[in-house]
Amino acid sequence: MKIEKLTISNYRNYASAEVEPCGGVNLFIGENAQGKTNLLESVYLASVGRSARTPRWQELVRWGEKEALVRVKVHKNIGTDDIAVRLGAEKHIQINGLAITKIGELMGVLKTVLFSPDELKIVKDGPGERRRFMDIALCQLSKAYFYTLTRYNKILSQRNKLLKGNPTDDALEVWDMQLVKEGARVIKTRRGLISRLDKIVEAVHRDICGETLKLVYEGVDGATAAEIETAFDAELKKNRERDRQFAITHVGPQRDDIAITADGVDLRSFGSQGQQRTAALSLKLAEMELFKEESGEYPVLLLDDVLSELDENRQAKLLERIKSYQTILTGTSVSEEVRAMIGDYKEFKVVRGKVAE
Ligand code: ATP
Ligand code: MG
Repeated sequence: MKIEKLTISNYRNYASAEVEPCGGVNLFIGENAQGKTNLLESVYLASVGRSARTPRWQELVRWGEKEALVRVKVHKNIGTDDIAVRLGAEKHIQINGLAITKIGELMGVLKTVLFSPDELKIVKDGPGERRRFMDIALCQLSKAYFYTLTRYNKILSQRNKLLKGNPTDDALEVWDMQLVKEGARVIKTRRGLISRLDKIVEAVHRDICGETLKLVYEGVDGATAAEIETAFDAELKKNRERDRQFAITHVGPQRDDIAITADGVDLRSFGSQGQQRTAALSLKLAEMELFKEESGEYPVLLLDDVLSELDENRQAKLLERIKSYQTILTGTSVSEEVRAMIGDYKEFKVVRGKVAE
C-alpha cells in the first residue's frame, strides 16, 4: 500500500501543501517547529480518523480558519482509494467521494504504522498504552474487531453506570451476558495478535540488538472463545461485590496488558530508556510484517524524529529495514552516512508550513 499523493489545506501551520512521495523512503527535513510532525499527523489522521497527538480534532484546523482538509490518494494491489477528511463544524470523511457514516468504514483503507519518540510509552507507561497499541493495530486489520470493541465499550460503560445504582444480581446478569460475549471476542482477537507478534518480533529484535524479546498477553485466560467466556464470566462473578463497592468493572479487556520481557527482564518496570525505545521500535517493525502477512501488502511506515534517538548500530538496522517500505521519515537533518545507507530516497524540505522537493 502506497501513498501517491497527499494534499492538505488549512491544516495546522499549513495554508496548503501537496506532496507526491516516492514508493520508498521519503525524507522530510526541516528545523524545529516548521511543520514536519504536522504533515505526518495529517497522514495518520487519514489512516485512523484521529490524531496521535490530541483527541481534539478542532486543534488541527489552522488558526483563524474555518475548515481544514486532508486528502490522500492511496495505491493498493487492488486499485486506488481516495480519502478526504474535512474538519469544519464537524469531522466529515469521504472515501472515493462517498461520505462514511461510521468511522469503522475508514479502518484499513490506508494502513499505517507510526513510530515517534512518544511511542516509547507503549513499553514505559501503563497498560492503557499497550491496549491502545493492540486496538489500533487490530482496528486497521479488521473492521469486525472495531465494531466488536465499540460494542464492548458501550456495554461496559452502561454496566458501570448501572453499578452506581446498587443493582440487583438479576439486573447485572443481563449486562454480564453481553459483556462476556463481546469481551471474549476482544480478548481472543488480542491474544491472537500478541501470539503472532511474539513470533515475528523475536527475530526482528534479535537482529536489532541481540536481546530475546518476548510478548505475553495478560488477561482473562482461555484459548477458544468459549473458554474465555467461561473464565470471564467466573471472574465477573468473583468480583461482583468489589464492582458494586467501587461502581466499576474490575475484570475484562479494559484491564488487560502485555508482558514485554527482554532476556527474561520485564521491560515495563526494569528496561533502560534505550531498551524500552528499541523494544517499542521492534514492536512497530513486527507490526509492519504482520500487516504484510495478513493483507499481502506493507502498510505505510511513519517515522517521526526517531533517528536522533537511536545509537548508530540501531539506526543502521532500522535503515536497512525501511528500504522495503514506503516510509515517511522526518528529522532536523540527515547525515551523509544515513543517506548512503538508505540508497534511493526522495527528499523534501519543510520550512514554515511549506514543503518543497
Ligand atoms: P520539531 O522538529 O520541533 O518536532 P516540527 O517541524 O515537527 O518541529 P510541528 O510539530 O509540525 O513542528 O509544528 C509546527 C508548528 O505548527 C508549531 O510551531 C505550532 O505552533 C504550529 N501549529 C500547531 N497547531 C497549529 C494550528 N492549529 N494552526 C497554526 N499553527 C499551528
Ligand atoms: Mg516534530
